[in-house]
Amino acid sequence: MSPAEDAGHESTSTTPAERPIPHRMPAAFIGHGSPMNTLEDNRFTRAWAEFAAKLPRPNAIVSISAHWWTKGSAVTVMEAPRTIHDFSGFPPELSAVSYPAPGSLALASSVIGLLSPYTAVIADTAWGLDHGTWSVLAHMFPAADIPVVQLSVDAGATTAQRVALGAALTPLRDQGVFILASGNVVHNLAMMSWHEPDTAFDWNTAFDDRAREIMTTDPIDIVTLHEHPAFSLAAPTPEHLQPLDYIAGLAVAAETTAEVLIDGPMMGSLSMTSYIVGS
Ligand code: ZN
Repeated sequence: MSPAEDAGHESTSTTPAERPIPHRMPAAFIGHGSPMNTLEDNRFTRAWAEFAAKLPRPNAIVSISAHWWTKGSAVTVMEAPRTIHDFSGFPPELSAVSYPAPGSLALASSVIGLLSPYTAVIADTAWGLDHGTWSVLAHMFPAADIPVVQLSVDAGATTAQRVALGAALTPLRDQGVFILASGNVVHNLAMMSWHEPDTAFDWNTAFDDRAREIMTTDPIDIVTLHEHPAFSLAAPTPEHLQPLDYIAGLAVAAETTAEVLIDGPMMGSLSMTSYIVGS
C-alpha cells in the first residue's frame, strides 16, 4: 500500500483517538500567473519551491485548479492522470512539459466522501492535471512522484459554499495531504500590459490589498470580497479568484488566518499574491 492509499484509508480504519498525534500539513493558495512560469526561474517560482522544500513530504496532494471550473464539484478518479496542455500560443517547450505524478483512487474516494454531504460530487475519469496544477507543482515537487488528485472549482456554488467545501477538506491535512489551490487573486487578461512585467493598475492594488486584509485577519470575510468596487475588474471571470475561497475555508476551520507567502503584481492586471495556512 502506498503512503497515499494509507492516508486515504486512515479515516475509515482507525478512530481519531487511535491515531498518532498528527502533523497538520500546511495548505496554500498560489498565484500561478502565466503558464510560462513552469519554465521560468523567478522570485515567485523560487518562493513556491522554497516553501515546498520546508514542508514535511506530503503523502499526497489535492489540487484545486482555476483551470477546471465546473458546475458542481468534480474529482479526478484515476491512477495515472494525463498532463493536460490547456493553453495555446506558447512555445513548444511548454507543450512538451509532462508532469507524470500518479493519481490516488483512495484519496479521490476520501475527497468525494468529505464533500458529498455538501454537494453532488462527480467522480471524473477523463480530466487529468491541467497547467493550474502542474505549472506550480513542477517547482514545488519536480520529481512528480507524489500522488495528485485534482478537485474542480465549483462555479455553481456561492462563495460561502466554496468556503464550506474547503473547510470540509480539513481532515486530509491531518493525514499528510497537502492541499493546493491554484489561481490568481486578480486576473484580467484583457487589460494586461505585456511589456510592463512588474506593474499594477491602482484597482489591482486596491483589490489585492483588500483580499490580503481579509485572508490575514478574518478569512470568513472572503464572502464580502465581491462587494469591493474593483471586483468586476479584478475578476471579470471569477475562476482564478475562487480557489482562494477553499483556502479561506481551511483557515476558518482551523480558527486561524493565512500568511502571505509572496506578493506582487504582474503586467498591470495580475496579482501573484500567494497565501499559506500553516496551522
Ligand atoms: Zn491560470
